[in-house]
Amino acid sequence: MLVLKFGGTSVGNPERLKKIATLVLDTPGKKIIVLSALSGTTNTLVKIGEFLLGGKKKEAETEIALLEKHYEQYANGLFSSPEYIAIGQDIVSRYFSLIRLLSAGTFDDRSYRELLAQGELASTEFFYYHLRERKIDTRLLPALHFMSIDENQEPELEKIGERLRALLPSMSHLDVLITQGYICRNHRNEIDNLKRGGSDYTASLIGAAIQAEEIQIWTDIDGMHNNDPRVVKKTTPIAELTFDEASELAYFGAKILHPSTIVPAQKYGVPVRLKNTMDEKAFGTLISDKGTSGEFKAIAAKDGIIAINIKSSRMLLAFGFLRRVFEVFEKYKTPIDMISTSEVAVSVTIDDASHFSEIIGELQSFGTIEVDKNQTIICVVGNRLAEKKGVLNDVFHSLADIPVRMVSFGGSHNNISILVDTSQKEKSLKLLNQGLFDLDG
Ligand code: ASP
Ligand code: MG
Repeated sequence: MLVLKFGGTSVGNPERLKKIATLVLDTPGKKIIVLSALSGTTNTLVKIGEFLLGGKKKEAETEIALLEKHYEQYANGLFSSPEYIAIGQDIVSRYFSLIRLLSAGTFDDRSYRELLAQGELASTEFFYYHLRERKIDTRLLPALHFMSIDENQEPELEKIGERLRALLPSMSHLDVLITQGYICRNHRNEIDNLKRGGSDYTASLIGAAIQAEEIQIWTDIDGMHNNDPRVVKKTTPIAELTFDEASELAYFGAKILHPSTIVPAQKYGVPVRLKNTMDEKAFGTLISDKGTSGEFKAIAAKDGIIAINIKSSRMLLAFGFLRRVFEVFEKYKTPIDMISTSEVAVSVTIDDASHFSEIIGELQSFGTIEVDKNQTIICVVGNRLAEKKGVLNDVFHSLADIPVRMVSFGGSHNNISILVDTSQKEKSLKLLNQGLFDLDG
């Protein structure tokens, strides 16, 4: 079994939806298709939900009417025969009646989550009826029947697997099953979701739960690239990555993949392939547990980092000092990304400033605090970098002209993290692109 996920742009207009349907039908074997909402839909539903929560019914109604127009046109463009055009119109009117019903009642957080779920429910119905119009025998597998999260919002992978194993045998004669990305039920059995961009995560959870042969994430770029194409002139797709390298890159802002996607796939060793709907023949990126050692794979950057330096003579030869420092961050549920220590000082970075002043307030009792805002972590990713001679030399030779605030190496086998002032980011990425990959910066 394969799991194929298509994002919002892949179903964003009727022509593209038809194209991916053909792509699915041309793919041999049995597969579960995971779809996002039509592009822009979730953003609009968020907007409508915010208006309704804020009591702005008129503004919400305007947005609903606009979205409805868009869906009417979409349905008319998708279906060809009178029978299916009627089905398309019925789908649109059903969804928009429900949306209006939700907005007419007392609108609370629960109604909001139900509203957000309508995008994926509608896109999968469109896809289902499109295949039916093409005379393909297929089935909708309702995500709300098997995808669930617990009270900590964590997906219940084992339960998802059990439910799917109970559902799938009756459909074993079908080559194509369709389900919704992003949506699920929570521990109160209410409709909920896996957070924005969560359809990738759905695909990975399903792939892991049924131990699929492969999880394919289809987008409109040919895989992960070695550097940020918005910053440097030339980038290349990375053919193969390990799960660890891919998680590192997903965290460091490689927008192509939801950061949690790798976790379930890695747990069950199911390879994840990133593919391009605009260029089906392109290899894309294959993420698996097979690694090539000692090679630079990619450079990624994350902005909005704050560096905090705590200097204290009490740290000298003391034990338990770092624990007390970390407890402050723990208390405010603020993750630390980079750490670097000397005998009398420690520097840490955070990217979540929601409790910044409380944290600084408490840290002051330890010694002198210095803060640098507007920092960027530049992360050089590769497999088993510590085994390759001269890696640090290669990196710092490239960055010879850049003032470096912090460095972290050895925390994992996969990355070298370098903290620079954000004003130095562009130059750093360009220099590393030239120095490590011999590509135009
Ligand atoms: N439709 C959802 C969103 O826009 C989920 C997804 O596309 O992955 O966030
Ligand atoms: Mg996405």
